[in-house]
Amino acid sequence: MLGYAGKILRVDLSSGSFKIEPLSDQMVKSYIGGNGFGVRILYDEVPPKIDPLSVENKLIFVTGPLCGTPVPIAVKFGVFAKSPLTGILGESYSSGFFSEYLKKAGYDVLIIEGKSEKPVFLKIFDDDIKLCDASSIWGATCWDAEDILRSDLGEKRLGILSIGPAGENLVKFACITSDRYRQAGRCGLGAVMGAKKLKAIAVHGSSRIEVANPDGVLEVAKGIVEKSKSARIEHHRVYGTLGTLEIANAQEALPTRNWTYGFFEKAENVDAEYMLRNTFVRDVGCLNRCPIKCGKYNVVKDGPFKGTAIVGPEYQSTYALGPNCFIDDLKAVIKANELCDKLGIDTITGGCTVAFAMECFERGILSEEDLGFKLRFGDSEALMRLLELIAYRKGIGNLLAEGSKRASEKLGAEALAVHVKGLECPGYDARVLKGTALQYAVSSRGACHLRARAQVPELTGAIDRLEIEGKGKLVKEREDLFTLFDSLIVCKFALPIFELSDITKAYNYVTGIALNEKELLMVGERIMNMERLFNVREGVTREHDTLPKKILSHPNQGLVTSKEELNIMLDEYYRLRGWDLETGKPTVEKLRELNLL
Ligand code: SF4
Repeated sequence: MLGYAGKILRVDLSSGSFKIEPLSDQMVKSYIGGNGFGVRILYDEVPPKIDPLSVENKLIFVTGPLCGTPVPIAVKFGVFAKSPLTGILGESYSSGFFSEYLKKAGYDVLIIEGKSEKPVFLKIFDDDIKLCDASSIWGATCWDAEDILRSDLGEKRLGILSIGPAGENLVKFACITSDRYRQAGRCGLGAVMGAKKLKAIAVHGSSRIEVANPDGVLEVAKGIVEKSKSARIEHHRVYGTLGTLEIANAQEALPTRNWTYGFFEKAENVDAEYMLRNTFVRDVGCLNRCPIKCGKYNVVKDGPFKGTAIVGPEYQSTYALGPNCFIDDLKAVIKANELCDKLGIDTITGGCTVAFAMECFERGILSEEDLGFKLRFGDSEALMRLLELIAYRKGIGNLLAEGSKRASEKLGAEALAVHVKGLECPGYDARVLKGTALQYAVSSRGACHLRARAQVPELTGAIDRLEIEGKGKLVKEREDLFTLFDSLIVCKFALPIFELSDITKAYNYVTGIALNEKELLMVGERIMNMERLFNVREGVTREHDTLPKKILSHPNQGLVTSKEELNIMLDEYYRLRGWDLETGKPTVEKLRELNLL
């Protein structure tokens, strides 16, 4: 099985035992890896309608066939579980050495099941697999826990995943931190880890991943390094993801003040130019290997947050902790981002939930008495105070730790919570980007900007952002393509220099399995349908493929994405997907075509 380690490691926290199972040929051919493995295992092994924080949920960590090979953008891993935030498919990706070392230790997939009685961490050093007592690091921040493990374990070459206080306290949007500066942020999978009393996973592996055509793989790797210098990816390389802020703001597509506006007047205080002038220190490539190096290491050099240092902030974190909370101070955003990373909070849901609470305060739905302090838009001190309360579930933080959907239902403020299926919306204003609106409505994990990346052609003007015709096709085709990226697993930001033809070559050279472009896209489509089947089993129907009230009826530039517009786009999308127009379920014919029946 070239390109794969060929094994699954299954760890049962209840009994403290583990098993090694073979990865089947059929799994490899039908699902490739990454999200394909994640959703198939989740569907087969996790019973429907379980409580995501119960012992029955499983946490599935996946790699892909390109991980651990010289392909320099295959630096990510995926995590899957039923999400405690949304109650549907939970999936999240992050960079880190975990992926490469897990594979080099001999495993393509790690399945965590059961629940430990006391805090533990999992050590995987090749075939030395142990559950170790973690009581001394339980309660520590992600960064402190990682530092302690790195110094205690006597091995420098480690991939470490950890949760912080938010995960331990079952905050529904707790993230999993990877090698300090990267996070599997979305869907609250850190809370699943916390419910299992698993504080961290430390992995080291030393074997080689054999590939079918080593020269071919090196040629692909060299091509990526060469093309990473080209103009096609220059903007991303120079400005990182934060470069998007200026572009989104220029199109009035930067959600501001809890989605009250799509334009932030003080954007120049939080944009990439400001970062480069004031806090930027150096470029960072994932695993010190990716030549695009879109990570930006920033240090605050003066003022109250002096000394704060992170890789970031990324665009999404800046939107959520900055303009959406009406905060115009990038140094404060960096500090809030660092706080989220240490406490183990997803910056998007964390920032958006605080923005929601700020609007509740401004409208008198939450009072100073409820909060213990004033929570005005633009108040960065209040933002950070509230993030701490959330992580420790103290005071009002206990309610907000449930995410904006549940909190809004308790407060009778549903119209102010900006989410789809319980997942808070990323920072692209779906009132003025119609394909983006559709992708939020249909994405498998709730409002997601990564599955179709429909915002890219819309923001760059490659297509008409206000046109609704053709957006079903756009989202469907891009979902299949990026699902393929997530099965391999390669970084989606590399698309301008790693197109379908390159992917096909890389896959064939690594695995020796001769699939052409069409066949690979069909695997993407199969995985998309598996994700839908998982969600349908949890009760998702067409009715749930909708948008928050702020997008449907609160105008930006006089525009909304209306229910009528959404319905037209949904019809086109479902037709192309082969899903029933009324229920949104995959049809029998489609499932047969994809060998899922
Ligand atoms: S493009 Fe950026 S996020 Fe992607 S692998 Fe390279 S450095 Fe990491």
